[in-house]
Amino acid sequence: MLKSFAYVRPASVDEAVEQLRPAGARIHAGGTDLLVCLHDGIFEADRVVSLRGIEGLEGVREEAGGLRIGALTRLSEVARHPLIVERYAALAQAASEVGTPQLRNQGTLGGNLCQKTRCPYYRGPFPCLRKGGEQCFAATGNNEAHAIFGGTRCYMVHPSDTAPALTALGASVVIEGPRGRRTVPVGEFFVPPRVDPTRETVLEQGEVVTEVLLPPPGDGVRSRYRKVRMRRSWDFALVAVALALRKDAGGTVSDARVVFGGVAAVPWRSSAVEDVISGQRLTEDIVHRAGEASVEGARPMRDNRYKVDLLRGIVTQELAAMA
Ligand SMILES: Cc1cc2nc3c(=O)[nH]c(=O)nc-3n(C[C@H](O)[C@H](O)[C@H](O)COP(=O)(O)OP(=O)(O)OC[C@H]3O[C@@H](n4cnc5c(N)ncnc54)[C@H](O)[C@@H]3O)c2cc1C
Repeated sequence: MLKSFAYVRPASVDEAVEQLRPAGARIHAGGTDLLVCLHDGIFEADRVVSLRGIEGLEGVREEAGGLRIGALTRLSEVARHPLIVERYAALAQAASEVGTPQLRNQGTLGGNLCQKTRCPYYRGPFPCLRKGGEQCFAATGNNEAHAIFGGTRCYMVHPSDTAPALTALGASVVIEGPRGRRTVPVGEFFVPPRVDPTRETVLEQGEVVTEVLLPPPGDGVRSRYRKVRMRRSWDFALVAVALALRKDAGGTVSDARVVFGGVAAVPWRSSAVEDVISGQRLTEDIVHRAGEASVEGARPMRDNRYKVDLLRGIVTQELAAMA
């Protein structure tokens, strides 16, 4: 049964931070993940702090050539906003791939980054490492949907579609908390299991993500997001890739950020692929070599070897499309 909790609706970020100080306090944005976790007893809350009464946390603003996106901005708006579609295509595509239209109308960008893993052992009645237990049950159990990179101790995969896109685009999150404001690159926002398998992000108790900052896209930069899932209705990524490439007038890649989703506990930046394509034109040979490089160092488990082929395949296809 759902444990009862206090529900508060602060009118300012400062008030929210104050309400969030006690350990049992949880943030409620769109609620599409939080309420499921509470209902299913994955964790409990004594106090649920809604962000919805706080003005200024929603919307997209242009600033100094980049964008500021409020953490409460709905994914449907992120997916269709003209400036995001035009300049940060990977983010618009990633947001449009989340769940269903209803989920995108309710779910927020901040909530998308802070959602919990879908690992069935974490979500089920298992005392797994991530819940403070002794072991990762996926290591020897069913590991079909789990990590092929960076899996030390816990083999969860990061569930967010927007996180790999934002990492590729060089975005940062603005965090407000008891010790003031800080800005953290999205690429450093997530905590890998080798550092601490009980936390997903660097957020401390009482901290709230208030904004996502996108730097100016820069001349000649194009980005894309591709997600492969089990079925065509809503589902999480089996494998995904976000690409942000700058090409000069002759077609040479002068800057590359390549980030994978669905294959590691954090958005997984592939320096192997970036090294192969940087300073090169995307010829058939380079694209082929980049596809091979994408799976270098992969360590699949018993049930998820298919992810290696899938990843190689979509990296090759997406780079070929960008050529
Ligand atoms: C059926 C179904 C399908 C889904 N499919 C996908 C999918 O394909 N891809 C995908 O990426 N996600 C998917 N999701 C997950 C989820 O719905 C979305 O990620 C959504 O964006 C979460 O946003 P929210 O505002 O509803 O978050 P909430 O549920 O309100 O919050 C999620 C978590 O983040 C914390 N949080 C929320 N906002 C903040 C903030 N501003 N600062 C700090 N912490 C915060 C909450 O405390 C909570 O722990 C799916 C969910 C369901 C139920």
